[in-house]
Amino acid sequence: MPYKSVRPDDLFKCQMCGECCKGYGGTYVTETDIKNIARFIGTLPENFVKEYCQISGGKPVLAQKKDEFCIFWDETRLCTIHPVKPRMCREWPFIWSVLADPVNWEIMSNACPGIRTDFPLSVVEKCVREKLTGISQD
Ligand code: SF4
Repeated sequence: MPYKSVRPDDLFKCQMCGECCKGYGGTYVTETDIKNIARFIGTLPENFVKEYCQISGGKPVLAQKKDEFCIFWDETRLCTIHPVKPRMCREWPFIWSVLADPVNWEIMSNACPGIRTDFPLSVVEKCVREKLTGISQD
């Protein structure tokens, strides 16, 4: 495949394994995420932060269960807040830290079997930028 025609969907196919929902990576939730998730699960935003989040670096991140999976991960139903999952989860793995240092793509691939690493990092960078800005980089 010529690199020019590579699109973000060519670089990542979710395997539904839940690996990105595990471990203390810190899934930050924005104010909008908090409002949307609280409404979805039928609670108030302030209760949501108290009951479903931990504080990391002064910001709320989704809490984890004892098995280290996200509090909203379910083995059979997968992400139980899928329609309103946080921006970080919706964007994965097309995230800003890959633009900051494209080597992060390769590091992330160690924990995510859906990430392809057989393209040059310049192509990865182009696709991540395209996905995050919505603007074609051709
Ligand atoms: S909100 Fe959903 S997609 Fe995001 S980490 Fe939790 S279970 Fe995974």
